[in-house]
Amino acid sequence: LEDIQAVDREVADAITAEFDRQSSHIELIASENWVSPAVMSAMGSVMTNKYAEGYPGKRYYGGCECVDVVEDLARERAKELFGCDYANVQPHSGAQANMAVQFAILKPGDTVMGMNLDHGGHLTHGSPVNFSGTYFNIVPYGVNDEGYIDYDKVMEIAMECKPKMIIAGASAYARTIDFKKFREIADACGAVLMVDMAHIAGLVAAGLHPSPIPYADVVTTTTHKTLRGPRGGMILCNKEAAEKYNFNKAIFPGIQGGPLMHVIAAKAVCFKEALQPEFKEYQKNIIANAQALCKGLQNRGIKIVSDGTDNHLMLVDLTPYDLTGKEVEKLLDSVNITCNKNTIPNDPKSPFVTSGIRIGTPAVTSRGLNTEDMDQIAEAIAMMIKEGEAKATEAKAIVQSLTEKYPLK
Ligand code: PLP
Repeated sequence: LEDIQAVDREVADAITAEFDRQSSHIELIASENWVSPAVMSAMGSVMTNKYAEGYPGKRYYGGCECVDVVEDLARERAKELFGCDYANVQPHSGAQANMAVQFAILKPGDTVMGMNLDHGGHLTHGSPVNFSGTYFNIVPYGVNDEGYIDYDKVMEIAMECKPKMIIAGASAYARTIDFKKFREIADACGAVLMVDMAHIAGLVAAGLHPSPIPYADVVTTTTHKTLRGPRGGMILCNKEAAEKYNFNKAIFPGIQGGPLMHVIAAKAVCFKEALQPEFKEYQKNIIANAQALCKGLQNRGIKIVSDGTDNHLMLVDLTPYDLTGKEVEKLLDSVNITCNKNTIPNDPKSPFVTSGIRIGTPAVTSRGLNTEDMDQIAEAIAMMIKEGEAKATEAKAIVQSLTEKYPLK
């Protein structure tokens, strides 16, 4: 940090404070992670200095021979990792990957089915406050009373509204998604199937969640959640879709200018790491930790939407305690546990207040915590939900013992 300190004390101090915050807190935000030093270094490299509009071999700028190497490596590794024929690694974010895919395939006014935000979907799957909900005619689908996607209902809605596209994938869904079923539904109604695997990409890469690649026309993802890479997005598909739709053009010049070459370098490093055997172990541990945390909470009487989890996250239903997600997020923050408020299916409260919290294990697993540690975290969370501030000192002591046992480097 010396270079920043010499130029800008305020920013250097904020970065130091953020490191201290991350070190002293238990990070349970399901979409966050702790990247490797190699990924971090690639992001902070000279690649950030380079303009490279276009694609490898076809750039609008000179001097692109080194960034071409990096982008080719990222594309080839992404294809190998997910077993597909095409990869675009330029999307600056998951939202931009989704926007490019929707603009490449759809016309304004087309009907699209996406998972309801309340039920676990993402803003870019058709929320009225997002471009997707503004440009397209959105017909939402959701989960049943048990918290599982209701595939029969999805089929019924699809046959009725005949969407041009169905989007599968979620931001807050704890169960395995049946992509084969989604393919059957898309075929029955003549829709294009887009899968947004942002949350589960690491699990898919490790073969621990069924891959959408054989079933979807196109797959989008972020690279910074379970996949543990830099913040960014990606588009993947097989040969047929790559020939039919021009995703490259939809990204550049469609919705983006110059690619973030330092981030693409970090994506390449992340994919290399994800191709190693240790990555599979890491992903297995994420799931084992999520299941241990979930059991630990349930054993202490805390209600979990769908009664469990198959992946890296779970949704806590706070309605039995008459607490809002907003209140519990704040309570947990006061004892150095970071999570986010989240709507639960059919939530009567607004997304800013909510009746639930979402918790996930990718970041704590990267830090080295194991299933026994998860039980202690469950104890701290349950104390705070059931007894509130009275238990703050005890809960904070649990957090401190864990953060000291697993220091961040
Ligand atoms: N898709 C899903 C399923 C997500 O959960 C998210 C982010 O949380 C995104 C897309 C958007 O990613 P980004 O924040 O990089 O735009």
